[in-house]
Amino acid sequence: MNDLNQSALQKDTGMTTEKIQIDTLVIGAGQAGVAMSEHLSKLGVPHLVLERKRIAEAWRTGRWDSLVANGPAWHDRFPGLEFEGLDPDAFAAKEQVADYFEAYAKKFNAPIRTGVEVQKVVRNAGRPGFTVETSAGVIETNQVVVATGPFQRPVIPPIAPEDNQITQLHSADYRNPQQLPEGAVLVVGAGSSGAQIADELQRAGKQVYLSVGAHDRPPRAYRNRDFCWWLGVLGEWDAEIAKPGKEHVTIAVSGANGGQTVDFRRLAQQGMMLVGLTKSFNDGVVTFQEDLADNLARGDENYRALLDAADAYIERNGLDLPPEPEARNSYPEPQCVSNPILELNLAEAGVTSIVWATGFGVDYSWLQVKAFDESGKPKHQRGVSSEPGVYFVGLPWLSRRGSSFIWGVWHDAKHIADHIVKQRTYLAYRDAAQRQAEADRQARPDTQNPNSHVQKASLMGVS
Ligand SMILES: Cc1cc2nc3c(=O)[nH]c(=O)nc-3n(C[C@H](O)[C@H](O)[C@H](O)COP(=O)(O)OP(=O)(O)OC[C@H]3O[C@@H](n4cnc5c(N)ncnc54)[C@H](O)[C@@H]3O)c2cc1C
Repeated sequence: MNDLNQSALQKDTGMTTEKIQIDTLVIGAGQAGVAMSEHLSKLGVPHLVLERKRIAEAWRTGRWDSLVANGPAWHDRFPGLEFEGLDPDAFAAKEQVADYFEAYAKKFNAPIRTGVEVQKVVRNAGRPGFTVETSAGVIETNQVVVATGPFQRPVIPPIAPEDNQITQLHSADYRNPQQLPEGAVLVVGAGSSGAQIADELQRAGKQVYLSVGAHDRPPRAYRNRDFCWWLGVLGEWDAEIAKPGKEHVTIAVSGANGGQTVDFRRLAQQGMMLVGLTKSFNDGVVTFQEDLADNLARGDENYRALLDAADAYIERNGLDLPPEPEARNSYPEPQCVSNPILELNLAEAGVTSIVWATGFGVDYSWLQVKAFDESGKPKHQRGVSSEPGVYFVGLPWLSRRGSSFIWGVWHDAKHIADHIVKQRTYLAYRDAAQRQAEADRQARPDTQNPNSHVQKASLMGVS
């Protein structure tokens, strides 16, 4: 499972120009690809995982330096392995999460080839399966599982100003406060990334303006249980669709500094300037929507709803968990909420940088199959695509709320692996005439075998 460049792949397969054949090809070795490989291995499906960089690369290099998992170690993991040497209630640092997935893949000797990029997938014409072009050669496969991640392409909205005086970066490129020039900073977006980055920048002594849109903000913990536990027992991780009106609502949680509830009023009390949704930039002036108070109020509603549901659950089940009335206290309304800033002259406010914590898109330009709707979104049911033989895993709400998170993806991967096994059973069926023809063909010498030019998966060390 070491890095494998083209020549290594060739060495591994003993081939250069000929096609490799593998039953199932998994693309991407983040948590989704690793989970997929585990289930396929358990079910005896010959497969190969191709990863263009390293296992769990997004956790290793795709996030800021201080990032820790949003959920505690007992929760944000796969069922079969605990984090070694980490308190189960602690929040794993991003490197620990990456190490965890590497260790996990080693545990079952996952057939992962790193350093190989998939560049094109097309359905074969007039015969089953797909032809896959990679940076290390061509592969023929019956099934393709797309595990290339939900957060591939940083999205910065078109309102971003063209202003050379201001340093602008997406949260995907943010690493630490030292990266930004002296001066105040505007953080646009207050989901988990925006809220955590804004907090870190403020702790580093910067004046921070945080643009807050619609959000949910569950308590970090309530009555001795982390919110991950509450979402689990209350069935929220398993919700199959977002509640009406919540489709585009981000969730603001943080495991940073030991784990604390994201409370925008607390941040404001510490000096952060909260503003509403960022509307436009004109001649060095940014305008904000007048929705800050509403956004905070809806976030509070969500917070209190979880406390209420938790209280009701405790009562219904007679659990002995200590009351926590102080969780219902709130910070006084900050001035920036009661008298919101609707316009800000960036130069006058000393704003020298903008961090866009505005989310991600996906890029499937290389996946040239009919698996997408008019807007380019994958068409699928629980990851089983509308294009037979194509699967998606790891996408937000693939089957449920937990789908794009560590805990949830493992279960989705199991469903997809089961589906692949079912399809293999159908495809393996031969009627009597075909069985006879097959037997006759097997009896002929190898030179007449029409498939003799295709290398078998076993050559790749894949069982
Ligand atoms: C800032 C941030 C914090 C998060 N924190 C948490 C958390 O605390 N807990 C939690 O459960 N979830 C968290 N998530 C959500 C989710 O767990 C991660 O985004 C996770 O990395 C998704 O795993 P994945 O395997 O689906 O995708 P990725 O980790 O993105 O893996 C996809 C892999 O595919 C590879 N790849 C892509 N295209 C190709 C190609 N063409 N050929 C070959 N390889 C390719 C990439 O190199 C990558 O390694 C967080 C997300 C973000 C953005």
